[in-house]
This record gives sequence, C-alpha cells and structure tokens, in this order.
Amino acid sequence: MRSFDTRSHSYLGYVLILQGRVDEVSQDFKVAIGKAAQDKHGFQVGDKVEGMAEPVSDQRLELAEYYKASKLRILDRGSGANQKPPPWTSLTPTLETYRQRGHRRMAARTYEQKCQSCIWGCKMPVEIMIDQWNPSRLKFRFETWCYGPKSCSSYSAGPTRKVPGRHGMTWEEEDWIDEESTSHRELDE
Ligand code: SF4
Repeated sequence: MRSFDTRSHSYLGYVLILQGRVDEVSQDFKVAIGKAAQDKHGFQVGDKVEGMAEPVSDQRLELAEYYKASKLRILDRGSGANQKPPPWTSLTPTLETYRQRGHRRMAARTYEQKCQSCIWGCKMPVEIMIDQWNPSRLKFRFETWCYGPKSCSSYSAGPTRKVPGRHGMTWEEEDWIDEESTSHRELDE
C-alpha cells in the first residue's frame, strides 16, 4: 500500500506460476497460495502439481488469476535447485525472511524476462491512496521487486517509481530508499 511518500507491506503468501490445464483448457496461469500450503508442500521450480482453486474476485488486488487453493498435491518433483544461479530456484524462504531482507525496485522487463523463476523475484499488487482525506480515491498498479543478492548479474533497477498524490502532486521514490532498506546485507548476501 502506498500513500504519497509512505508505504507498507502485507506478506500474504506465495504465487505459483504454472503451465498446465484449467478445466481441461491448456494455458499459463498463476495461483496464489498461503504460507501454510507452502510450508506443507515445499513447492519448488519444476514441480508438477494438481489442485482446486477459485477465480479471484478482484484482479486489481491479485497477481494470480486463481486463489483459495485446496486439495493441492505434488505429482512429480522437479530437478531441484539451479546449480549456477541466477536465477535462484531453491526452496523459497519464509515470508519473515523476505521482510527482514528488504527489497530493491526492479525493472518490469527484467522481471518478465529473467526473474519469474527466481525465489527472490516479486511482482506485487499495489493500492495507492491518492488523498488521505478521501480514502475512497484509490489507484491500483503492479510493481516488480528483487529481494536477492545485490551482486546479481541479472538485476536492472529500471526508472524510479512515481506516486500520485493530491492536487496533481507526484512523489518520486529515489534510489537511497532501496539502498537504505537493503543496507544491512552484504553484496553477495
Ligand atoms: S535480479 Fe533478483 S530476482 Fe532476478 S535473478 Fe537476480 S536475484 Fe533473482
């Protein structure tokens, strides 16, 4: 969530990016799952899975097309972690670990082309409150972020993010904010 120069995060769970079939129709699609489901199954890149899910009710608030997954089952394990990252494809860390690591903005094109299979890549729905005195004035968009090592050769920041506010004002999120939120990590951490 953003409100001009302030932001907050809710770490709700994970998103599985899948190639497969929905109601026997072949397609690429995404399914949001909760922390408990990931803890239980330990989904990892390359796994073959099946399950039930519902279409999301508001596509502005979800990256995935489906959520409320149930009856999840792993049919076949993938080949395991990539031995020569990037991208990093080992088991995902806990949500607390992501929050503790902090993130840097990442160019949307870099995310689409190089980072969708990386455990450190993230595309998140963002709700922007344009006017704090009129909380019903909202905008929605998606932003891409990297929680990975600052030395990653695939990383590209892209343009700074601009946040709209009252009376046509705009706030720019400058580089120092990313530097500060990841300053506790070494380059390869
Ligand atoms: S830029 Fe970030 S998300 Fe992309 S491969 Fe590197 S660590 Fe992973």
